[in-house]
Amino acid sequence: MFQLTLRRRGISDQTVLRTMEEVPRELFVEASDREAAYRDSALPIACGQTISQPFVVAYMTEQLQLQKSHRVLEIGTGSGYQAAVLSRLAREVLTVERYRMLADAARARLEKLDCHNVEVMLGDGLNLPPNIGPFDRIIVTAAVEKIPENLVERLEVGGILIAPVGPHQGVQTLTRLSRTEAGIERKELVEVRFVPALPGVAREL
Ligand code: SAH
Repeated sequence: MFQLTLRRRGISDQTVLRTMEEVPRELFVEASDREAAYRDSALPIACGQTISQPFVVAYMTEQLQLQKSHRVLEIGTGSGYQAAVLSRLAREVLTVERYRMLADAARARLEKLDCHNVEVMLGDGLNLPPNIGPFDRIIVTAAVEKIPENLVERLEVGGILIAPVGPHQGVQTLTRLSRTEAGIERKELVEVRFVPALPGVAREL
C-alpha cells in the first residue's frame, strides 16, 4: 500500500521506492501515532517539530539522484527518518539538528537500525563551522527564506542542493540547485510546507 501511494503520486525511482519500503517509519513517529505511520501525511514529533510526509521524503530523495559514493549533508534531523532513507543510498550522511532532544533520539534510532554511516550533530545548520564539507548532496528539511550562501559554498562540482524556499509561515517552493563547471543552475519543483529553519542551537532541552 505504502509503495502504491508513492507510485501514484509520481515517484518512479525503484531504488527510492524500495528504500522507503525498507525503513520502518513507525519507529520514527510518536508511539501514539504508530498506526498512522504509513499514511501519506506529516506527523508531530517532540519540540513542536514534524516528521515530513512520506511523499515529500521520497520526492526529495528522488530529486537528489543519489549514488553510493556520495557524501550527504542534511539540515534538520527531526526524527531521523529522512537520514535513515539517505543512509541506505549514500556513502556517508551528516545530519544537523538544533534541538538536543531530537538529535539524541534520532541518533539512538539510527543506531538501532544499524545506520552506521550517519552522524547526527547538534548544531545550527545555517551557521556551520567552515571545516565541514564539501558534500556531493545537501538537503535542507526546514523552510528557508533564501538558500544560505554558506551551504551553496559546500557543494562539490556536480553537486545538488535541495531546499524548501519561501516564507516561514505558509507555502514554500522546493528548489533544486545544481553546481556545474559553468556555475549554479536553479530549478523550482513543487510546493511544500515545512517548519521554519531557525538560527542557533535551541536553548530548551
Ligand atoms: N527531516 C526530518 C524532518 C525535519 S523537521 C525527519 O525526517 O523527521 C525540521 C527540523 O529542522 C526540526 O527538527 C528543526 O528543529 C530543525 N531545524 C530548524 N532549524 C535548524 C537549524 N538552523 N539547524 C539545524 N536544524 C534545524
